[in-house]
Amino acid sequence: MSSKQTKITIETREVWIIRRPDHVVRGWCGRCAAWVEMVTGEEAAHLIGVGVRAIFRWIEQARLHFTETPAGSVMICLPSLLADRPSDPLELSAGQTDRP
Ligand SMILES: [Zn+2]
Repeated sequence: MSSKQTKITIETREVWIIRRPDHVVRGWCGRCAAWVEMVTGEEAAHLIGVGVRAIFRWIEQARLHFTETPAGSVMICLPSLLADRPSDPLELSAGQTDRP
């Protein structure tokens, strides 16, 4: 009788996007009226630690500046992302505030 042991290793890795100069797109933001750094929706979500859905919700709410590339991808204005992000990211995901 032989016993087989199965070892399952789950590796959790935290992915953090490091912005490199060639990774950031420079684009014109009409609302900033300036050339700004732009990132994709996914990058934006990673950068501030929220879900991609939150990013697109903010776009719908006009809280984020964005532009669309000819290829159809949405690029988010980085200054608007960093300026207008909520102080408490949990507020978004949980939707509850327990403040006295
Ligand atoms: Zn902008």
